[in-house]
Amino acid sequence: MKRVLVIEDDPDIVLSLRHNLEREGLFEVTAARDGEAGLAEALRRPPDLVILDLGLPGLDGVELCRRLRREPETARLPIIMLTARVDEAARVAGLNAGADDYVAKPFSVRELMARVTAVLRRSEADPGDRLGDPPLLLDLPARRVEVDGRDVELTRREFDLLADLLRHRGRVLTRDRLLRVVWGYDIPGETRTVDVHVRKLRQKLGPAVAERLETVVGVGYRWRDGS
Ligand code: CA
Repeated sequence: MKRVLVIEDDPDIVLSLRHNLEREGLFEVTAARDGEAGLAEALRRPPDLVILDLGLPGLDGVELCRRLRREPETARLPIIMLTARVDEAARVAGLNAGADDYVAKPFSVRELMARVTAVLRRSEADPGDRLGDPPLLLDLPARRVEVDGRDVELTRREFDLLADLLRHRGRVLTRDRLLRVVWGYDIPGETRTVDVHVRKLRQKLGPAVAERLETVVGVGYRWRDGS
């Protein structure tokens, strides 16, 4: 059974999520009503997935997400954000803070369940030490990259950038997020660094593989999912 931590101050939404997630016997739900309690619970006993409301009293969802990403125990925990706000600024703030996915309220239970399944599948698909998208293969412990069985020499940043994109395939990763995860910066305005590295990475990978690394205009980059 997968453990889901719901961090949400609206008791009706918690009730509905609990009911729907626990119905099939696949999930066990723990709930927290504010950001501080949610953070403490996530760190004490990291769940398999977090469903996080963006608008929380006290520590808000975006800040909470950032903190979860900073702690080693929860750095790669799948996080789905809930928000009443459907504007792009909120979506980008959530993605920048490291959320894996985003559902706008009011949401249908079917939609949310589909996102939960997809996010968990993506996190399980990560085999830990190898990431691949034939003909591309990454050996994470050895930090080796092959295309068609041929070694490709990447710098450390290029390798980390590629690994982060592959781990989150199908998702748009903003430049700010990549800068923070790959470079450890939190400096807006340095995002051109990301563009420069993406350009070099595409050259080294060659056109057949590089076409999977898509530019999402005005937002960031995405490793195209699909076969
Ligand atoms: Ca709320």
